Amino acid sequence: MELVCLDLEGVLVPEIWINVAKRTGIKALEATTRDIPDYDVLMKQRLAICKEHGLGLPDIQAVIADMGPIPGAYEFLAWVREHFQLIILSDTFYEFAHPLMRQLDWPTLFCHKLEVAADGTITDYKLRQPDQKRAAIKAFHSLNYRCIAAGDSYNDTNMLGEAEQGILFDAPENVIREFPQFPVTTTYEELKAEIRKASLRQIP
Ligand SMILES: [Mg+2]
Repeated sequence: MELVCLDLEGVLVPEIWINVAKRTGIKALEATTRDIPDYDVLMKQRLAICKEHGLGLPDIQAVIADMGPIPGAYEFLAWVREHFQLIILSDTFYEFAHPLMRQLDWPTLFCHKLEVAADGTITDYKLRQPDQKRAAIKAFHSLNYRCIAAGDSYNDTNMLGEAEQGILFDAPENVIREFPQFPVTTTYEELKAEIRKASLRQIP
């Protein structure tokens, strides 16, 4: 039995916060874990900026819905789902992913959760568990699934290492250099080729 586990942002959909920053014109929202390595500090800052600008969840969801998936992602997922069981392992939040999941026909998604007040203000966030991507692969192994995983960034490398085969997709140079054990892909066709290679079956 084989599972394909995919990261979401940077693999199937654009980076959510960067695009929210671009589309709302709020420069301060462009900060990422590269600027502020402590994720908790970064998230608290993002939520404070949203509140300050009166950006509630529905506003952010509208921006995200407009982003749409990466071109070709829908067709790529259809191929994965025809030949494998698919799980998306993401460090985003259900509330943000929702408008994009609709455009991808609601694949199974394991991620985190926001806390939202009645007026739409995002008040806090809840990480489901630490190192959740790796924990998920371990759990799938305990259920006797073989895992083929793909992601684009540092937060994926534990998942890629834990899987029977990890694959980098459209990763930045520094990640490619630091993790030479993972094959590098930049298009969905290349990713499909690596998934076929990693599978124990003949996949068309
Ligand atoms: Mg990513």
